[in-house]
Amino acid sequence: MLFLNYFSRSIHHLISPQTIQQILSRIDITEIIGGYVKLKKRGANYLGLCPFHNEKTPSFTVSPAKEIYKCFGCGRSGNTISFLMEHEKFSYVEALKWLANRYNVEVEESELSPEIKIQQQTADSLYILNNFARQFFSDILHNSEEGQNIGLSYLQERGFHAAIIEKFQLGYNPTAPDAFAAAATAAMYNPELLQKSGLVVMRDGKPFDNYRGRIIFPIHNPQGKIAGFGARVIRNNDRAPKYINTPENEIYIKSKLLYGSWFAKQAIDKADECLLVEGYTDVVALHQAGIENVVASGGTSLTPDQLRLIKKFTSNLTIIYDGDAAGIKAAQRGMDLAFEESLQVKLVLIPDQEDPDGYVRKFGAAAFRDLVAANKKDFILFQLETSLAAVSGDSHKKALLVNQIAETISRINKAEDFTRQQDYIRRSSELLKIDETGLNTLVNKFIRERISKFENKAAPQESVTDPAQPEKIFIDEELNELLNRDEQQERAIIRSLLEFGLKPWSDEITVADYLLPELEDEDMFDNKSLIRVLQLYKIWYDQKLEPTSRNFLYHEDQELGALVVSIMDFPYEVSENWKRVYEGKIPTRDELYQEEVGSTLTYLKLRKIQRLMNMNQRDLEKSKNTEEQLMFMQTHLHLKQMEKELMGKAGTVIVKI
Ligand SMILES: [Zn+2]
Repeated sequence: MLFLNYFSRSIHHLISPQTIQQILSRIDITEIIGGYVKLKKRGANYLGLCPFHNEKTPSFTVSPAKEIYKCFGCGRSGNTISFLMEHEKFSYVEALKWLANRYNVEVEESELSPEIKIQQQTADSLYILNNFARQFFSDILHNSEEGQNIGLSYLQERGFHAAIIEKFQLGYNPTAPDAFAAAATAAMYNPELLQKSGLVVMRDGKPFDNYRGRIIFPIHNPQGKIAGFGARVIRNNDRAPKYINTPENEIYIKSKLLYGSWFAKQAIDKADECLLVEGYTDVVALHQAGIENVVASGGTSLTPDQLRLIKKFTSNLTIIYDGDAAGIKAAQRGMDLAFEESLQVKLVLIPDQEDPDGYVRKFGAAAFRDLVAANKKDFILFQLETSLAAVSGDSHKKALLVNQIAETISRINKAEDFTRQQDYIRRSSELLKIDETGLNTLVNKFIRERISKFENKAAPQESVTDPAQPEKIFIDEELNELLNRDEQQERAIIRSLLEFGLKPWSDEITVADYLLPELEDEDMFDNKSLIRVLQLYKIWYDQKLEPTSRNFLYHEDQELGALVVSIMDFPYEVSENWKRVYEGKIPTRDELYQEEVGSTLTYLKLRKIQRLMNMNQRDLEKSKNTEEQLMFMQTHLHLKQMEKELMGKAGTVIVKI
């Protein structure tokens, strides 16, 4: 489906650089982070309790000047965008869009294909319609006689308080055939869109409400937008399904949604555990009881996308089901995938056919927590135990079971979880009363089979590791420093460009106008990433985007951002000469930027000339005839002359690099 690709596609095709620039220019890090963390001013910085780890004394520091944050407790650091990405689990694009919305920046998108544009417009319209519907249903619940008497009283009977009804934005669809359809039509929503949303059904060309007389549960996507609805009957009725859900459309992609994920993500992150329950009411009830790290699958087995969504927050999944067989069956499907995703899956069965909602209402939150903690069973072993009970002496069935468990264990990523795999082999062989080594061999057989299947699928390719190529060399710090020292001039000129590029060089041109043509020759640079910084700078500069180091700090390519940070931190010292000239009263770099730019460029050119001279020297030594020798010697003299001129310039150097 095209629409799915749209979200995973890379940013440059979506948000125009002009928009990104507008967003970045408005970012106020203390304001954004201040929305999540209570910050107090301490000198130039702000201090607060870290949102990423539990602490009593604040060690989370925000620097408005540098536009970065750092926690001295857990070590996490970054900029506004990485904060949103980490805290809200946003992608880079999502973080930018969130900021655009916050600062009222209109997002200009570029290079979208017409099909994707149409899909996106439909998606946007559906979100708007869903929001309209949410307001309508909530208004009916609270402000109409039918809503209060039937919907609200039902929710109150189930023990839901006003605050939790509000939080989960629950609503009610009246029993009249077209209450919502009429309201939506009056609000100019077109029939096609209404039908697509699943909120209405068409009969004889006329729209009717699909969720008549039902409680409405808005289903939020992980970014907090309403993707669809679950509509629950109030009185259980054999003829009507208990729940009706939104049909699949551009924004309601069932396999990618988990009910409650928007409200649970921070709690899951903090608890490092995700509780999975069956019903929407279980999620709401547990939240009300203060247990917020909980989502619901809506009774179906987990899909790979849902597992990946959970994996974004935690590797610990605890499935909580009432003790009935259907629930367990549902949970079992898709579990092999959970192992491939390296999730640690535990199972808790609630006794006496009770669901989490009923249990927490009867016994309270503390009892529920205790129940979960005391009854967590390993999912694989639980599965094995129940299956083993059903085998009861049938040796053929037992053989099938052994194969099955070996297959499951073989899916655990051996490289990541070797001990875990060994542990499963040991415990399963105990339960099955079979030889541990034998089971181990069987597991390995399944692993080999999977690998060979995978290799056959892939196009025939040469082995990646070339035996002639030596192993990747470990670069130690000394060597690293040596490499960086050789790069000093390259880094320094880029720093000058980023820092002073927009300042005047003369009356007519800027520093960037002066430097960019001088640096056009890529031979001046060894570091490919620095060339990229230069190229990006040039593109942005030509587009009149007035680039600075900030643009790179927030760039999607985090490596580039890190490189620029390291350049900006690059130490410099004022040369002794100038200390003497100014008799201790040293001018600031801002006052002397033109001299710094000039000298940095001189040093870079000087290095290039010295390299050319070395090369020329080697050629000269290898040369066979006098004609060649003469040519190399002329080149040498020419280079020497250039060096001399540059050295003369360098004599006036203020900043020693
Ligand atoms: Zn921290």
